[in-house]
Amino acid sequence: MLSRSFMELEDTYGAHNYKPIPVVIERGEGVWVWDVEGRRYIDMLSSYSALNHGHRHPKILKALKMQLERVTLTSRAFYNDMLGRFEKKLAETAGYDKVLPMNTGVEAVETALKIARKWGYHKKGVPKYEGNIIAASGNFHGRTITAISFSTEPQYKNGFGPFTPGFKIVPYGDAKAVEGAIDEKTIAMIVEPIQGEGGVVLPPEGYLKQLREIADQNGILLIFDEIQTGLGRTGKLFAWQWEDARPDILVLGKALGGGVYPVSAVLADNSVMEVMTPGDHGSTFGGNPLAAAVGIAALEVLEEEELPARAREQGEYFIAKLREIKSEYVKEVRGKGLLIGVEIKPEYGSARRFCEKLAKLGVLSKETHEQVIRFAPPLVIKCEEIDWALERIERVLAEAL
Ligand SMILES: *Cc1c(COP(=O)(O)O)cnc(C)c1O
Repeated sequence: MLSRSFMELEDTYGAHNYKPIPVVIERGEGVWVWDVEGRRYIDMLSSYSALNHGHRHPKILKALKMQLERVTLTSRAFYNDMLGRFEKKLAETAGYDKVLPMNTGVEAVETALKIARKWGYHKKGVPKYEGNIIAASGNFHGRTITAISFSTEPQYKNGFGPFTPGFKIVPYGDAKAVEGAIDEKTIAMIVEPIQGEGGVVLPPEGYLKQLREIADQNGILLIFDEIQTGLGRTGKLFAWQWEDARPDILVLGKALGGGVYPVSAVLADNSVMEVMTPGDHGSTFGGNPLAAAVGIAALEVLEEEELPARAREQGEYFIAKLREIKSEYVKEVRGKGLLIGVEIKPEYGSARRFCEKLAKLGVLSKETHEQVIRFAPPLVIKCEEIDWALERIERVLAEAL
């Protein structure tokens, strides 16, 4: 079997830091992908929300190809004629003064933490290197040593210490706990508006707004990691807009690259971003002209195709239909927009086997946090495509194990 040979190749020569669903993809378009044997699947994971625009969106491919014909990499040692345009587009779209471009999500997280720390020492007057940053339990902010240092997931940390100090953990969704954890050396808090990797965990209503107020009252920075929730996924351009809780620092990644290229960014107003001075921070590939061209196109497509509104409408439909499925395995269906989790009761084991069954029927999804099947299709998905998936999801959730 052709698939098996590709899986064996990865198995033999690749580090085993992932355990993929056994499907070998060779082509993608919109919400669909095809494997090496020609079978078609609907992509209900969207590369963890990096494919909000769908696979190979024509406008994004066009921007990529056009830029490929011009110049791809300049480094920040020089100016290029695309970066400023991307920064303007992103700053105006998100409503911030300044953009700091990076490549991957975790790099943007690290960048946000560096900006916050420097702001804490230079602006807030916290004694140097004594500052702390508050994070939430169940968080996912990426895989660098600093990001895992304030993870509460044992497997993310096990074997990788010593860890970066300077973080305090409070329970997610509990604004009072944040208030209780703040001391005179607290610089910032970093939170996901919805925890995606944590199992599609929605905080209580009002939480984001309360965090905004707590940050204001205590003179600390509010950082939202919207790498997964941002750019339309939850039915608004940014999830913070659901509660009008604009963060001081906004972290974006994933879909900012339009599904074709790694692009991430940190946004803040001048009063915060001005702590960064030449030489403080950088990235060889960050802000390269190819990334900038792709980023502009990704933002334009979100607007032109009104993807946040589509995510809201399609998400409501999808969640309602999922809730109608009668299944003894399902504990809860929850979500916002097209970020949806179906939690399997613990007595039925991991959600993994449901994902494997779904894949056999042509629906790609992935378990997260053991018990949860995440459904997060491209935001361009149509009702009939949701119905196609629902038919198969129902079969898997309703039939005997
Ligand atoms: C995916 C993700 C990251 C890490 O992004 P990478 O590009 O994988 O480094 C960080 N935070 C959140 C909320 C994410 O979903």
